[in-house]
Amino acid sequence: MPTTAVTGSASGIGAAVCAQLEKAGHTIIGIDRKTDDNFTSIAADLSTAEGRQNAIDLVYQQSNGVLDGLVCCAGLGVTAPNCGLIVEVNYFGVTSLVTGLYDALRQGEQASVVVIGSVAANQQVAAPHPMALAMLDSDEALATKLANEDQQAHIAYAASKFAVTSWSRQTAVKWGGNGIRVNVVAPGAVETPLHQASKDDARYGEAVRNFVAPIGRNSEAEEIASVVTFLQSNQASFIHGSVLFVDGGMDAMMRANSF
Ligand code: NAD
Repeated sequence: MPTTAVTGSASGIGAAVCAQLEKAGHTIIGIDRKTDDNFTSIAADLSTAEGRQNAIDLVYQQSNGVLDGLVCCAGLGVTAPNCGLIVEVNYFGVTSLVTGLYDALRQGEQASVVVIGSVAANQQVAAPHPMALAMLDSDEALATKLANEDQQAHIAYAASKFAVTSWSRQTAVKWGGNGIRVNVVAPGAVETPLHQASKDDARYGEAVRNFVAPIGRNSEAEEIASVVTFLQSNQASFIHGSVLFVDGGMDAMMRANSF
């Protein structure tokens, strides 16, 4: 029975991933700001170095140092309390956990890591932004400072998702030889509390509500979780370093010639 840790397990995509992986026979270790009664779970704040280390230590304890899967769903959207937090959770909360759990994943059976990115990673502002470069340089203080000075939550979000996607692909190249697959799932608009908050937001709500995928609707969290569950199975044994858009055609609509 594979053991898989899932961050952001208490809500939205993470909760749907836990339910589907459990059904597929995985033992789940959930990680979120609060514990969950449904499965083994860890309360940790992934926005801080101490919280991340606490999560890593407890996953080692609860998995006996052997992890077959890690799915990083925890994240904040444009309604986060401040822009620095978006960077801290969406980038450093992911990269620290993936790196910190490397030894446990190495002990796992055909281990697989999935990071939840976003279609927003491909926005023009994201890639060259100094915030993204500071993240990829592992400079948390600078990236957070730039995000808080800028106060443009959509840019902090896009930059954090660009950086975490790029980092995941670089990590896939490094880790492939050690038998650990690493992939990114990039959703479009998914009906979760995060997305509802964005739709209700005074600053971003109208743009979010008007950005509709070619398929004509938003997705349910279960439609993202089913792709994650596939990636965590042996049926996906040669998918490595990929970004899978699960977005109803949003990426195709924005950049049909980039693939
Ligand atoms: P959600 O708000 O329903 O769930 C996010 C979870 O992350 C929550 O349970 C929350 O408690 C947890 N979390 C946030 N900050 C944390 C912290 N500091 N420490 C520990 N846990 C923390 O949101 P969701 O829509 O399910 O989002 C999941 C992921 O999907 C995020 O990375 C988000 O960026 C990404 N995403 C969502 C959408 C969408 O439309 N919903 C689109 C693209 C990408």
